[in-house]
Amino acid sequence: MQPPFFHTGFLFHGSLNDFLRTRQKNTRLDFPCRFSSSVKDAIEANGVPHVEVGKIVVNGKEKPFDYLLQPGDEIDVFPYERQLPAGSPARFVLDVHLGGLARRLRMLGIDTIYRNDLHDPEIIAIATTENRVVLTRDVGLLKHKLLQWGYWLRSQQSEEQLLEVISRFSLCNYLQPFMRCIACNGLLATVAKNEIVELLPEKTRLFFEEFYRCTACGKIYWKGSHYQDMLRSVERIRSVACQ
Ligand SMILES: [Zn+2]
Repeated sequence: MQPPFFHTGFLFHGSLNDFLRTRQKNTRLDFPCRFSSSVKDAIEANGVPHVEVGKIVVNGKEKPFDYLLQPGDEIDVFPYERQLPAGSPARFVLDVHLGGLARRLRMLGIDTIYRNDLHDPEIIAIATTENRVVLTRDVGLLKHKLLQWGYWLRSQQSEEQLLEVISRFSLCNYLQPFMRCIACNGLLATVAKNEIVELLPEKTRLFFEEFYRCTACGKIYWKGSHYQDMLRSVERIRSVACQ
């Protein structure tokens, strides 16, 4: 009879170490496997979601996720360096905790689905049917078997998260500030003042002539003091993330 377990060695490279405990980082880990375990299952059992993996090398040869581990295998797992679904730029769906990041992405014109009432199965369904990248701090969500594209945000701060996403998905050339509705992700279109004048606060009516309306939810935008703040924010982001 074969023993129920055998030993393999896993070495996780680069950013995949972010998922490991300190003493496990950059170290070949002895990992006991059951017979007929796939390398994908073993990678995720080590805490690394498959969507962050770019290449798997077993005993010096590249292998697919469904490779069945053998006794004594030495496995090297490499991260995705640049992760884009077909047809760039990347589009995203965010989990319910990421409202701050959603607003920042939309401000930059990045196509971002976010609602604070989306359940995980809905997020997975949106990601798979619309070919969107899931952004989350929940590693468990990224282990869902149907998920092809995902990224685990390292930071808990929304501005740092934004910089991570711009860098990870090479978005610098795709930023189009102020073309999307911050509230709903709809596209904005210019609208004549006389069409919407009834809806404007009194001072806005007096001091502004240029208006934009969300083609999805109807929210109206103008270049008030909030716009100047956002403009500075966009410049700061570009200077840090897009040099
Ligand atoms: Zn809208």
